Amino acid sequence: MTTVLNIEKLCVCYGTIEALHGVSLHVDEGEIVALIGANGAGKTTLLKTISGLLPAASGTIQFRGASIGNLPAHRVVEHGIAHVPEGRMIFTNLTVKENLAMGAYRRKKSDAMRSDQEYIFTIFPRLAERQQQIAGTLSGGEQQMLAIGRAIMSGSKFLMLDEPSLGIAPILVQTIFEKLLEIRKERGLTILLVEQNANLALETCDRAYVLETGQILLEGLPGELMDNPKVKSAYLGG
Ligand code: ATP
Repeated sequence: MTTVLNIEKLCVCYGTIEALHGVSLHVDEGEIVALIGANGAGKTTLLKTISGLLPAASGTIQFRGASIGNLPAHRVVEHGIAHVPEGRMIFTNLTVKENLAMGAYRRKKSDAMRSDQEYIFTIFPRLAERQQQIAGTLSGGEQQMLAIGRAIMSGSKFLMLDEPSLGIAPILVQTIFEKLLEIRKERGLTILLVEQNANLALETCDRAYVLETGQILLEGLPGELMDNPKVKSAYLGG
């Protein structure tokens, strides 16, 4: 199995306070790896550091064999990493179609871009129906679909999703997660999924890590973690 992302002993600080204390994890080609953990565990910090939005204090981040730790964000994007941030961060004053076009700003081949846009509209018909709608007026779930669509438009094969279920109606959450599995299969994507909803994350992923106060506490297959008494009581509500 080819390792796509490999992180070793990563430490990240906000000023003098260390938020990640020596995190090591890896994501292999084609996997969906979930990172679960409570509020403030450091999940967002980890994704932001991979994306180059926060500096690493120490440790290494390798992506497809290249060292990307402490590269600026625009250079990390060039390696083929797409980050769908918490809160989605779509361009609220632009239309759905314009938002998708913004996702593809680095790409030169307009044919591939057109076919990706067609693909996104097939996967998310709601976006197709709303192509000309101002993105800020979409529902939370539709905005999440748009954020995922925009990431696909970047042409990246590695997607990092930060809390895609947050603030979204349960029925749409289900749809979005089903679509993620479909997209992974059809597009050959590799996904690092940060999710507070551990049930949902474990139902979706191939492997998961539990992050607790800036440290990896556990790693395992979804079934193993679901049966783990600690995970059950702390994250699965029973
Ligand atoms: P959530 O699910 O609530 O987003 P999280 O697991 O993503 O939580 P982070 O947002 O990564 O957690 O936060 C990890 C720790 O770093 C927390 O203790 C948080 O207070 C702290 N932290 C996050 N951002 C900053 C910042 N800009 N300045 C100082 N401390 C921060």
